[in-house]
Amino acid sequence: MSKKYDVAILGAGVVGQALALLLARDRLRVALVRREPAPTAPTAPPDIRAYALNASSKALLDGLRVWPGVAADGTEMATPVQHMWVAEDAPATPASVRFEGTPSHPLSWIVDVPALEVTLAQAVGFQSGIDVLAERPAAALTVVCEGKRSASRDAFGFEFDAKPYPQTAVAARLRTERPHGGVARQWFHQGEVLALLPLEGEHGQAVALVWSVAHERAAHLLALPPEALAAEVTAACDQALGAMQPQGQAAGWPLELSRARRWVQPGLALAGDAAHAMHPLAGQGLNVGLGDVAELARVLREREYWRDLGDLKLLRRYERARQADVTAMSWVTDGLLGLFGHRDSRIQALRRWGLRGFDRLEALKHWTVQQAMGPTGTAPH
Ligand SMILES: Cc1cc2nc3c(=O)[nH]c(=O)nc-3n(C[C@H](O)[C@H](O)[C@H](O)COP(=O)(O)OP(=O)(O)OC[C@H]3O[C@@H](n4cnc5c(N)ncnc54)[C@H](O)[C@@H]3O)c2cc1C
Repeated sequence: MSKKYDVAILGAGVVGQALALLLARDRLRVALVRREPAPTAPTAPPDIRAYALNASSKALLDGLRVWPGVAADGTEMATPVQHMWVAEDAPATPASVRFEGTPSHPLSWIVDVPALEVTLAQAVGFQSGIDVLAERPAAALTVVCEGKRSASRDAFGFEFDAKPYPQTAVAARLRTERPHGGVARQWFHQGEVLALLPLEGEHGQAVALVWSVAHERAAHLLALPPEALAAEVTAACDQALGAMQPQGQAAGWPLELSRARRWVQPGLALAGDAAHAMHPLAGQGLNVGLGDVAELARVLREREYWRDLGDLKLLRRYERARQADVTAMSWVTDGLLGLFGHRDSRIQALRRWGLRGFDRLEALKHWTVQQAMGPTGTAPH
């Protein structure tokens, strides 16, 4: 007897919802298992993060008509990044690299997370072919998209290797004295990574902070009154955007590098953070998760007519295609963290020399930007 659903998706984060929309548009019967009610407006307290999304992710979300636009009060919910500035903050001999985009080819977009989640939930509500359920139904294929703490992944017996970093990411929204000018700024300082991501459009005066610091320091920063945290950030980035004011409370995320050994079993697949998680310093976790979504949908769409959706050989095509990409991105983020966290003065000197040399190598910078933007991206300079 045929099952009622072709695909059951467990977890309604960005990855699960994007996958549900893509598969339903390919005329598959989809069940989306959602634990919490769908957001109709940003939840309280809202997720204060903003994601840096690359051109491939934008193309996917645009194609699904869920790219967040302009809010009712006129605030832009996706800010194009025209320039990116990365610095090693050694007071005596600072070194930095600047990546240039153009108005028609930004380097990336900084997207408000609650706005993206609401847009996705609305699209899921309107899309025929998706049933939102509280319990997992029988389906030819079940895709686990429950994030890095997925209970279903463990219950299905997938092995998952996790290496916790000794860091927590402190995230907050801050208003700035001066406009950010569409520049994403990142500092590496004694193992810490401080990023200020531009919000509210090119001329905006608000940024999303992601400050990855040792757990004890994170606990201290999170316990500060919001004004005191804003003052610490203002000082740590040497007033790069003038004085900063808090917008709401900060929140913390413990960080890890993790990956499932296998991503598929007969009738089962993992996608997004349930399959892999990485340090946010390169802003790639969700981009990689949306890469999983695009590839899994492609593999299912292009399957031989006689092959079942849960066929292991079919699912292995997805696993093979994605694992190389994810391994490369995990190495890059882990390697950068290790390199910039090194306290040895010889390595520090080499690092600063490398950073300055890299800044002069236009061809290498162009290639690096192309890799970060994904296959749909056209790198500017
Ligand atoms: C501080 C920080 C900054 C980041 N910045 C960026 C960035 O700039 N760019 C980028 O690309 N990535 C970034 N990331 C990574 C990004 O947040 C993740 O890669 C992304 O959220 C993964 O999406 P997901 O849908 O796979 O998992 P999640 O977002 O974790 O969603 C999982 C969903 O499954 C649900 N769920 C869990 N268990 C169950 C269950 N048993 N039953 C039903 N539902 C369940 C959860 O409630 C949730 O809705 C950042 C991460 C952090 C921590």
